[in-house]
Amino acid sequence: MPAEPLFSIRNLTVEYATRAGAVKAAEDVSFDIRREEILGLVGESGCGKSTLGKALMRLHRTPARITGGELLFDGRDLMKLTEDEMRAVRGAEIGMVFQDPMTSLNPVQRIIEHLTETVRAHEPRTTDQEARERAAVLAEKLGIRSERLKEYPHQMSGGMRQRVMISLALALRAKLVIADEPTTSLDVIVEAKFLDLLRELRREFGLTILLITHNIGVVAEIADRVAVMYAARLVEIGDVQDIFASPKHPYTQGLLRSVPNIQLDGESLYKMEGMPPNLLHPPRGCRFHPRCPFAMEICRDYSPELQAVDGDHFTACWLYHKTTGKEGAKNG
Ligand code: SF4
Repeated sequence: MPAEPLFSIRNLTVEYATRAGAVKAAEDVSFDIRREEILGLVGESGCGKSTLGKALMRLHRTPARITGGELLFDGRDLMKLTEDEMRAVRGAEIGMVFQDPMTSLNPVQRIIEHLTETVRAHEPRTTDQEARERAAVLAEKLGIRSERLKEYPHQMSGGMRQRVMISLALALRAKLVIADEPTTSLDVIVEAKFLDLLRELRREFGLTILLITHNIGVVAEIADRVAVMYAARLVEIGDVQDIFASPKHPYTQGLLRSVPNIQLDGESLYKMEGMPPNLLHPPRGCRFHPRCPFAMEICRDYSPELQAVDGDHFTACWLYHKTTGKEGAKNG
């Protein structure tokens, strides 16, 4: 029995207004983030995964805007909240960790002041002393010694700044942390420590984590489930072991075959043919059809919906559709 969802994203569409026209960077995307799971969201650069991550917190700014969908987080539709109400949700209920959180930290404020001030802004009844102590205890847990909290952000490494952002989310007792490419700038040792830390936080604090990454290896190591995006749409989602053992969507199959593997002695690495489409003029039908070795006639005109292929494993591909007719298919 799958765990209850903490966040249900329904038919989410995010558009960028450009001079050449509207670009849908995420289109009609629906999935659940279950309580206390680590969900990996993967796909090539430009597939819409980071846009989606920001939209979940309504953090997108002009020229991007959400043009449709529901964001049902812990019993509320975030789309119906005012900007003030949303500000209270950000940080306190949903934390975000970026590749380099320098932009989220005030460069002229010491870390401890930033932590204390943010906790006090969300919880005015908490005294400075209590906020400082809570932040220090959590930072220590994350391997930041208390004397380092007196430093400014630029005195810390990227990995250390990420830990500051996580300790902030924990100090505010966030239920969900969205981590966008958190390991991209880390070396392999620091990356391994960071992944251990996420596992521990989930275990100890019951944290739910959405991990956005292009690094399939990181997802294999840490995630419970994985969601795959291609050209602004979700094409596959399921248990990480199922998807790695038996990927269904031809794009996921190509993505997994493109990962370097030291056991493939002497074999050259698989290279997926073609390029991701221009989202200003995406292909009709299944967006992967110009690159897909299994494309059929129906794929060129009709877009397949996500359908269950095996228990908790869903994919959007005509090869697995229960109805092979065009019923229920969306044009374009
Ligand atoms: Fe390939 Fe058709 Fe499946 Fe798209 S729907 S991935 S083109 S087989």
